[in-house]
Amino acid sequence: MKSKFYCVLLLSVANVSCVASSKKYETFDIHFVVITPNPLAHSTVKLAQLKNEVDILNTYFVKEDRSPIIKFNFKSASFYNEIQNSSCSFVALNNGNRVYNADIWARHFNLCNDPKVRDPHAINFYVFDSYTLKQGFKNRDGHGKRNGNRPFLLLDWERLNHNVQAPEEHEMGHAFGLNHVCALGAKPDSSTNIMASSCKGGSTGKRDIGFNDEQVKKIMHYVPLIKEKLAVKK
Ligand SMILES: [Zn+2]
Repeated sequence: MKSKFYCVLLLSVANVSCVASSKKYETFDIHFVVITPNPLAHSTVKLAQLKNEVDILNTYFVKEDRSPIIKFNFKSASFYNEIQNSSCSFVALNNGNRVYNADIWARHFNLCNDPKVRDPHAINFYVFDSYTLKQGFKNRDGHGKRNGNRPFLLLDWERLNHNVQAPEEHEMGHAFGLNHVCALGAKPDSSTNIMASSCKGGSTGKRDIGFNDEQVKKIMHYVPLIKEKLAVKK
């Protein structure tokens, strides 16, 4: 009886701190779409994993001192069977051997008016199957684009669950306007900034150091601009 009371008390304390922290930060809703027709991805990527992606972002999209900058919220998800017949041409971009092209994907994204494929009031997060001429579908890239303050992300389904070089917070960094940085002298197991990328004289590293002051300033510059765009019905 005594231990039961203790447990309830703990829950109650947790709830209070949860409410307090969600008020402190700007929050962005995320709509997930499984856009790859790959059946292996469909049997692997379930709703629980998509919700977990939000927890990953809330854990790792942080400053150098590990404190949050903004918070993310799971809004909704569309699975492939719900969007495969959509009128949006964006869906067909991942159907077949097609190399990613930022401008082409953004154009098809912006033309899409099916809210199951493109939620105009959320950051859209696409689970796709990355393809390159060299590696075929074994490639596991991700992409993030600010897209005139209507950001979207694409992440290869095999990179979900924070697999290999911190993909969630890295692509979300691009979605909030950040570019790559070069970590000179970095080796694959070196600690590097979230936005580190392979460059002349430096490896990508682990991307386990949070955003620096300059990057936080840039993110915060785009926060109200993105908020404003996502509030408009289009
Ligand atoms: Zn990048």
